[in-house]
Amino acid sequence: MAFEDLYQEIILDHYRHPRNFADLSDVPDEEAHENPTCGDSVKLVVDVDEDGIVQSIRYNSRGCAISVASASLMSERLRGLTVAEALERVSTFMRILRGEEPEASLEDWGDLVALEGVAQYPLRVKCATLAWHALEDALRKAQSR
Ligand code: ZN
Repeated sequence: MAFEDLYQEIILDHYRHPRNFADLSDVPDEEAHENPTCGDSVKLVVDVDEDGIVQSIRYNSRGCAISVASASLMSERLRGLTVAEALERVSTFMRILRGEEPEASLEDWGDLVALEGVAQYPLRVKCATLAWHALEDALRKAQSR
């Protein structure tokens, strides 16, 4: 099986069975992050404990496979980090997808490596980074509490 097929499988699996997907109907719609070019939308809540560790990332998203899979993969991978570590990951992920870190790779990021190819499709980069923008916002709010 070619790598690209394998990555496609990972993305479709997370799209069809998004991990940590939650009913966030209590979160106002105005707090949703939108990607109007594709119609993607995501609401996200982060739970940080008293030690500043990210205990869980929950989200409610609708949109294309890449936007939903990216939220799902992110919610699994960034749990257990400190807020500062998670913010660093968010920033690195966005730079890699935007092609600003040509030497860097998502190889050590578990299944998130499946999204690396998105960097070649500028229109889809917004799909893949949408949930990460939402997480960045939520982490900054948690930090200032
Ligand atoms: Zn999209």
